[in-house]
Amino acid sequence: MPHIAVQPTVELMAITPDAERVIELACRTCYLSFHRYNPPASTRDLIKKVIRKKHHSVLEHALATFRIKGGSRVFTHELVRHRLMSPSQESQRYVEYGKTRQYEVVVPPTIEEAGFKDRYMELASACQGLYQEMVEGGVPKEDARYILPNGTTSEIVISANFREFRHIFQVRCNPRAHWEIRRVCIQMLEVMQKEAPIVFDDFVIDRETNSATLMES
Ligand SMILES: Cc1cc2nc3c(=O)[nH]c(=O)nc-3n(C[C@H](O)[C@H](O)[C@H](O)COP(=O)(O)OP(=O)(O)OC[C@H]3O[C@@H](n4cnc5c(N)ncnc54)[C@H](O)[C@@H]3O)c2cc1C
Repeated sequence: MPHIAVQPTVELMAITPDAERVIELACRTCYLSFHRYNPPASTRDLIKKVIRKKHHSVLEHALATFRIKGGSRVFTHELVRHRLMSPSQESQRYVEYGKTRQYEVVVPPTIEEAGFKDRYMELASACQGLYQEMVEGGVPKEDARYILPNGTTSEIVISANFREFRHIFQVRCNPRAHWEIRRVCIQMLEVMQKEAPIVFDDFVIDRETNSATLMES
C-alpha cells in the first residue's frame, strides 16, 4: 500500500543575506540618495514606496530557494507554470518508486470526506504494483511511470526573486487557487514574512480559509 503524504514540508534552503538592505541600496542607486540611508525607517519607507508605485524591478535583487516535499504532481505541475521561477524536480525517468524512494500519494480531503479514500488507495496500490512488475519485467522507468496517478508526490527545489514570489503568492495564495498549491504557498509566504517583513507583510493570511490576499496600498 502506498504511503500517504499528510502535510507538505517547505524548507528555506537559501536567501539573499540582508535582503531588504540590498533592495534599499540598489534602489537608492537610481537617485544616488545614499545620504538618506537610515535603517530601519528608511528601508521601510523606500520599499513600501516602490511597491506602491509599482517600481517592482528593485525587488529582483533579492532571491530565495525552497525545497518542497510531500506535494503531488498536480501541485508541482501548477507551480512550474511560473516561468520566472527556476525549478529542479525529481525525475520519474531516474527515480524508482519502492527502490530509490518510498511510493507516496496525496489524498485530497474531499475524497476522504466523501468516503472514497479506501478505493482511492486500493487503486493507487494497484498502480504501484503494476509499475513495479513492469520495471522488474524490463520496462524502462520512464515508460512504467505512465500508470502512476497524478496524486504521486514529487520533490522539488525552486528559486525565484522577491518580485516573482510576490506574484506567485498573489495568484496562488488567493482563495480561488487550488487548495494544495495554496497550502504550500501559504507556508512559503509565512517564511518570507519572517525573513523579509517589509516586502511581504502586505499579504494578509486568513487561517480559516488558509488563503492570503494582497492588501494594495
Ligand atoms: C486560479 C488559477 C487557475 C488557472 N487555471 C489554468 C487553466 O485552466 N489552464 C492553464 O493552462 N493555466 C491555468 N492557470 C495558470 C496560469 O494561466 C499561468 O500560466 C500561471 O498562473 C503563471 O502565471 P504568470 O504567467 O502570470 O506568471 P509567471 O510565469 O510566473 O510570470 C510572472 C509575470 O512575468 C511576466 N511574464 C512572464 N512571461 C512573460 C512573457 N512571455 N511575456 C510577457 N510577460 C511575461 C507576466 O507579467 C507574468 O505575470 C491558472 C492559474 C491560476 C492562479
